[in-house]
Amino acid sequence: MRRACAASSRHPGLDPGSRFFSTAEEEAGPRVKSGVTRGVGRALTVGTAAFALSGCVVAVGNQSAPVAPATVSGVPAGMQYLYGSGEAAAASRQTYSALVRYVQQYQRDRTTLRRMPLQAVLAPNATLAMPTQLACTGKSAVVFDVDETVLLNTGYEYSDARGGLTYDAARWERWERSDGRATRPVPGAVEGLAALRAAGVTVVFNSNRNAATASYTEAVLNRAGLGPARHGETLFLKGDAPGGSGKDARRALIASRYCVVALVGDQLGDFSDLFNAGLKPAERRAAADSPAIVPLWGNGWFLLPNPVYGTALAGDFDDVFPNDLRWSDPGARKE
Ligand SMILES: [Mg+2]
Repeated sequence: MRRACAASSRHPGLDPGSRFFSTAEEEAGPRVKSGVTRGVGRALTVGTAAFALSGCVVAVGNQSAPVAPATVSGVPAGMQYLYGSGEAAAASRQTYSALVRYVQQYQRDRTTLRRMPLQAVLAPNATLAMPTQLACTGKSAVVFDVDETVLLNTGYEYSDARGGLTYDAARWERWERSDGRATRPVPGAVEGLAALRAAGVTVVFNSNRNAATASYTEAVLNRAGLGPARHGETLFLKGDAPGGSGKDARRALIASRYCVVALVGDQLGDFSDLFNAGLKPAERRAAADSPAIVPLWGNGWFLLPNPVYGTALAGDFDDVFPNDLRWSDPGARKE
C-alpha cells in the first residue's frame, strides 16, 4: 500500500452514534493501513471508502481491488476535488445560487402572497416515509452547518493528508482553537449569506463543533466573512441541546425561535437525524432519493459536496455495485 494513502478524517459534523462511526470503527483506522480482510468486518467500511478516494489499493472481501486510479501527486482524490478543483467551486456556487433564489422567492411569497409555507425542519413525529414539516411562525432564518458547508477546513485536511493521519479528537480540538487562517469560505458562501441577510433572513449556524470552543468558532466565522455568529443566538453547537452529535434537538430549538426557511449542509444529518438511524448505505441512498424526500432537495434542503469525509463514505462492493449493475469486459484477457 502506498505511503501516500492518507485516510480521510471523521469530523464533528458526523454522528458517532450511527453505525458508520462506532467507536470500533474509529479505532479501525490503523488496522486498515496494515491490511484489510473481511474478518475485520463492518468497522472497515469508512476507512475503505476513504482509501478509495485516496487512490489506495485495498482488499475487499476476497478480492484485492485497485479501487481508484493512483494520484500522481499523492493528494487524496476527494481533497483534490473539494479543495483544489474548479468543478467543486462551481458545484458549491450552483448550490448557493439556487439557495438564494429559493429563499428570495419564499420571502416574496410570504410577504406578498400572505402565504405561510412550512419550515424546512421536520416535525418530531416525522419519518423518512412521511417527512412532516413544522409549521412556519416567526422571523425567517436559514440554518447552515459549518464545516465543509460554509467553511473549508483546508489546513486541517492538509495535516491529515501530509501526515497520513486518521481522525483524532484532541487534534481536531486544537484545530477548533486555531485562528482559522488556514480555512477558506466555501465558494459562494460569503455572497450567499450576505444576500440572505439583505433579504431580511437571519443566518443561523448549527454545528457539531464544541460549545466549549464557541468563542473560537465565532471568531473563525467572522474572520471568514461569514458572520455575525453569536453563540446561543445565531450559533448552536454540540452541547447546546441534548442528543450529542445529533442535530435534531438543536434544530427544534432554532425552529422554536424562527421560521427555518432552508437547511444547508454537506451530510444528510444536517437535514434530519433519521438518516443516521442505522440505515445501510443502499437504504440511506434509497431514502434520500425516495418520492417522499425528493421534493425537499432544492426546495428547502440544499446539499454541498463533500467527498473528503463523512457519512457518504460507506459501502462495500455489494453496497455500491448491485448485482444487476456489474459489467465484465468481454475483451479482458483470460488468465
Ligand atoms: Mg459539515
